[in-house]
Amino acid sequence: MTAAPLNRHDHFKKLFPKEPKFRIKQIEKAYFTQSMKGWDDVTTLGKEMRSVLTKEIPWISCKSVSVLSSKTGDTHKAVLEGLDGELFETVLMANNRDQWTICVSSQIGCAMGCVFCATGAMGLKRDLSSDEIADQFRFWRQFLLDRPELNQRISNVVFMGMGEPLVNIENVKAAIKTWLDYTDIGPTRITVSTVGVLPVLQEILTDPDWPAVRIAISLHSPEEESRRKIVPTTAPKFHEKLARWTRDYQGVLGNRRHHITFEYTLIAGVNDNAQEAKELVKFVKRCGEAKVNVIPLNPVMGKEFSASSRQGIEEFKKVLLDSNIDVTERKTMGQDIAAACGQLALKIKKDGEVVG
Ligand code: SAH
Ligand code: SF4
Repeated sequence: MTAAPLNRHDHFKKLFPKEPKFRIKQIEKAYFTQSMKGWDDVTTLGKEMRSVLTKEIPWISCKSVSVLSSKTGDTHKAVLEGLDGELFETVLMANNRDQWTICVSSQIGCAMGCVFCATGAMGLKRDLSSDEIADQFRFWRQFLLDRPELNQRISNVVFMGMGEPLVNIENVKAAIKTWLDYTDIGPTRITVSTVGVLPVLQEILTDPDWPAVRIAISLHSPEEESRRKIVPTTAPKFHEKLARWTRDYQGVLGNRRHHITFEYTLIAGVNDNAQEAKELVKFVKRCGEAKVNVIPLNPVMGKEFSASSRQGIEEFKKVLLDSNIDVTERKTMGQDIAAACGQLALKIKKDGEVVG
């Protein structure tokens, strides 16, 4: 695994060690000011400083290599290049309020190896820096500004792109803080999706710096052995510990707007039968207040799994609904450009050629 590139505020401190702290804030604000397109626009900084910065620190930490748009126009996927030339993906999707949700990556690849996920098959290359995470918002905002015919508003952010956000938690928190400080996106419009890294979930409960964003946990099975077959990082006594954590979370951070959501990717013949649905009901009830979001499996090349049938999905949902569990289904988007959940795996070469 290689290290993430230096963040611009650390780079700035190296270049100008004597500058007061508020400079960093001035700079961070400038990055998110729509009318500013480069260091020369930041007139609150001296001319000399601006010319050093122009040479030393790129205005944006990731540049576009290629953008694919779905036929329906409701999903766009970009391949971005970090400062060290490494590539990663980010997605812009229309949401049900006719605004945009961005699906951001937190790492390049992922070490967790969930068997149905294309990113997992890549292994982990490196963490993204907080700039590379935060700048996925800036990238998409510029994309929309260049297309005035499209709705301009990005209203939501979900950490459902490449990588496991909780193993890159410091950069994830820093990026979230930047958005909360410098964009109009509120904490309940940001969702961190995690495979369920229990020690980090535990830390969040007492972390004074944890921003009050939403958490979604990728559960995929109500039973430990079955879950381990598809999510190999499943810890011993995972469900018991997760149920306890969810109740603790409700006591510490939960409120009407902060419920835990369990994500459940439905895979035909693997985790979608009525017995599993009933076990899931029992598990959710042990957790106190939690919702379930079922995700029809998106096909991943080279993987033998297939999505549950429409009837299978409806039957599974019905078991939950009949037991008064709040259940939603994630709309599948962007499959034609491999931009749907679990399909991000860089099938595009640096020159933009599609190779898979
Ligand atoms: N690592 C985090 C976030 C990135 S994955 C996590 O696992 O939660 C985002 C979501 O996509 C997760 O719920 C994941 O389980 C789901 N996912 C992965 N592969 C998928 C696939 N092939 N089809 C549907 N959902 C998938
Ligand atoms: Fe990583 Fe999430 Fe994919 Fe699992 S589903 S391999 S945790 S990105």
